[in-house]
Amino acid sequence: MKNLLKNFAVLFVVLFVLLGVFGYWQSTQQTDNTIAINELVTFINNEDVERIEVDGSKILVFLKSGDEKEAQKELGESFSELMNNYGVAGEQLATIPVEVKADSSNSLFFTTILPIALPLLLFIGIIWFMTRQVQGANSKAMTFGQSQVRDSSKLGNKKVTFKDVAGMHEAKEEVMEIVEFLKTPKKFLSLGAKIPKGVLMIGPPGTGKTLLARAIAGEAQVPFFLISGSEFVEMFVGVGASRVRDLFRKAKKSAPCIIFIDEIDAVGRQRGAGLGGSHDEREQTLNQILVEMDGFESDTNVIVIAATNRPDVLDPALLRPGRFDRRVTLDNPDIAERSEILKIHAANKPLAKDVDLKRVAERTPGFSGADLANLLNEAAIWAARKNRKEILQQDILDSIEKVLLGPERKSRIFSEKERNITAYHEAAHALVAFHTPSSDPVQKISIISRGRAGGYTLRMPENDRYYRSRTEFLSDMAVALAGHAVEKDVFGEVSTGPSSDLQQVSKLAKAFVTQFGMSERLAPRAFGQREEMVFLGKEIHERRDYSEKTAQLIDEEVSRIVGEAYDTARELLHEHRTQLDAVVKVLLEKETIERDEFDAIMNGKQQQADAPKSEDAQSE
Ligand code: ADP
Ligand code: MG
Ligand code: ZN
Repeated sequence: MKNLLKNFAVLFVVLFVLLGVFGYWQSTQQTDNTIAINELVTFINNEDVERIEVDGSKILVFLKSGDEKEAQKELGESFSELMNNYGVAGEQLATIPVEVKADSSNSLFFTTILPIALPLLLFIGIIWFMTRQVQGANSKAMTFGQSQVRDSSKLGNKKVTFKDVAGMHEAKEEVMEIVEFLKTPKKFLSLGAKIPKGVLMIGPPGTGKTLLARAIAGEAQVPFFLISGSEFVEMFVGVGASRVRDLFRKAKKSAPCIIFIDEIDAVGRQRGAGLGGSHDEREQTLNQILVEMDGFESDTNVIVIAATNRPDVLDPALLRPGRFDRRVTLDNPDIAERSEILKIHAANKPLAKDVDLKRVAERTPGFSGADLANLLNEAAIWAARKNRKEILQQDILDSIEKVLLGPERKSRIFSEKERNITAYHEAAHALVAFHTPSSDPVQKISIISRGRAGGYTLRMPENDRYYRSRTEFLSDMAVALAGHAVEKDVFGEVSTGPSSDLQQVSKLAKAFVTQFGMSERLAPRAFGQREEMVFLGKEIHERRDYSEKTAQLIDEEVSRIVGEAYDTARELLHEHRTQLDAVVKVLLEKETIERDEFDAIMNGKQQQADAPKSEDAQSE
């Protein structure tokens, strides 16, 4: 592509130079002593002319007075004919020596060929450039069956090893075996063991699937071929399968090695599902992968690692023994792992002495490895923008919210009334959260707009949680509805503010009834089968597998549960109205309340309004 651009640039320069020369040449033609034909005729008739030179379209007239004049005639028109046409008598002309210069090809080129050729060339050039560019965008399509395989065992220019992968001890344990297969295959083969062909890495986005696969290659010191599932199906139908063939051919040449197929769900979806033309393509690609994997000799030391976050949509054929029969499950890191991940990503960043990564880990439940890496990066950017030489703990803590909710939008000006509503709304969330025992504790309340939220109440579990109980569900719904309830009670009407709260509540209530069997009135079973359809973008469809009557019952149950949660919220708000007003007062003053201060207000130790702020960075 770069080459192309260069070629084109050269072509352009040449064209411009030619144009310039031509223009210059033309401009030199228009000299002061240019005369019109009829003037020349006058000269001839007056017998002022000594001799004439004809050079292409140029007529050079040498006068007896010693002057030189120049006239233009049409190219290809003979001079004598021209004179004839102007009525100059033959005898008169015969007295003047006329010298016709034979070599006028040069000017012929400039005057006739160039004006035609130049735009033509330009035109061809542009067309050529455009077609090349189109090809550039999918040069893979032009190199048809070629897969864009790259040996990408290095990240930057550093080989990734297990040291760069924090946590996931079980997963590392699992893949250690694969490293050994790659390093010393003989040890296993001599015992008649078959080398595993495929490893499927399952885990939500950002949990380090790609990283771990890279680390395996790094540890075993083998090439690492990375291709993304979506690359197989990129441009033209029919390319996928041949790309697979090409990829495996290349890999076999450089065995032992690892083929990493990222996002395999893009090709490995259940065959025969869904609509649309691209599905044939996917099926062929998938088939080809299976064929290639089956075709491995028992001693082919190529291990295929595939990653997905949607194991549920994979074709069962992929998962049978001899294919991706080994599975490594990665999960979002727990608190200890988060600490480790933070440590790894903090290694190259200057941290202030007050930074306590353990506390950061405590405040980031649910963050993936990628989120944590991003968090430290945001903190570093923030510190740099504040012209600090070190990253402070507060920089990191502030970045948590940024990663969670988007950047602060201090420029958004709220009217006094809107501020009031937001303060009551957020205080209500916090208050209800405080008074429902199984709700996550409130970490921070803020009426500073962030991302799309007008304000926010940050609740975080104390410990990592893997299961959620029925009571937690119910209190989460009450907390979410508190915003709506308070707006109605305090202001008499509801703003558009709680709309996302309501959406969340509906989702929770529906899941409560249809997915988790938590409603007593309905049988403990799952209602509706969720399936993903890929047709003009992704869509989750729910197939109804229950009767109209049950549907009605589900609706009733959802409404009842939401209604009860709403009542709970309202009662709590009534009961603790003084606390609510106290929180609102502080919120309106300081805009943000941290956990300690909130707890203090709740426990009746109302702080002075001018108490020192605990979070300067936040309210600067
Ligand atoms: P996935 O492929 O699962 O979506 P990646 O492997 O691309 O996730 O991870 C994205 C980034 O997150 C990595 O480049 C790395 O910086 C960071 N990361 C994720 N998990 C870990 C971990 N366990 N240790 C260190 N860094 C991690
Ligand atoms: Mg990845
Ligand atoms: Zn809300």
